Amino acid sequence: MSERTKMIAGNWKMHKTLAEARQLAREIVQGVGRETRVEVVLAPPYTALAAAAAEISGSNVKLCAQDTFWEEKGAFTGAIAPGMLADVGCTYVIVGHSERRQHFGDDDEAVNRKVHAVLAAGLKPIMCVGETLGEREDGKTFAVVETQVLNGLAGFPVSEHERLVIAYEPVWAIGTGKTATPGQAQEVHHLIRNLLADTLGTADIRILYGGSVTPDNAATLMAEPDLDGALVGGASLKAASFLGIIAATR
Ligand code: PEP
Repeated sequence: MSERTKMIAGNWKMHKTLAEARQLAREIVQGVGRETRVEVVLAPPYTALAAAAAEISGSNVKLCAQDTFWEEKGAFTGAIAPGMLADVGCTYVIVGHSERRQHFGDDDEAVNRKVHAVLAAGLKPIMCVGETLGEREDGKTFAVVETQVLNGLAGFPVSEHERLVIAYEPVWAIGTGKTATPGQAQEVHHLIRNLLADTLGTADIRILYGGSVTPDNAATLMAEPDLDGALVGGASLKAASFLGIIAATR
């Protein structure tokens, strides 16, 4: 049996005003209560981080940013440094989400710089990897995921492995309502776990699944041995569905 604490992380993407963010965070804190079986993480947009931090204060719910820049400070208009995210109360930072890779040009080198910057600020990276539909249809899933994992983690200090979380998010499953089958997810998670064992000397690292997770499919996905939780987009925007996923996670 794995000793890894499962994690359910909600990626709110570019949604929620301040008032909406406060209310959603409050409802989740109330619903989660003193839950320790699952680590619950919220990733609001930058503008709502401070408000969400205030709402979750004193609870077991943790705060996460959706991205970061890698520099500590300077003339980088529009960018946010990892130290600023630590200052506002973040514990985690999502790095390399496919929407960042697709719309903002984040390549593996940028992802790697961000991973190191997040560590340097004392935070924990949730590094996302995953293949497109075309890559899966061409039989390239393993090769693509392997390259993203190895490049994204280049130079990752083995001693910091406890701070690392990986999210396997097949691009074709994100926001589409098409979920990977538990078997499809498990085989890629297993590949990632073996890669982590080879490169970091330990397989004891949490690997989340992301891609149209709902309260209805969460239990079967989470029953797979190498799935340690979920990164949830759409279903994290309403307290009832997000809490339903947490409740379905064992
Ligand atoms: C995501 O954005 O990380 C995600 C998995 O989105 P969704 O749950 O909406 O597919």
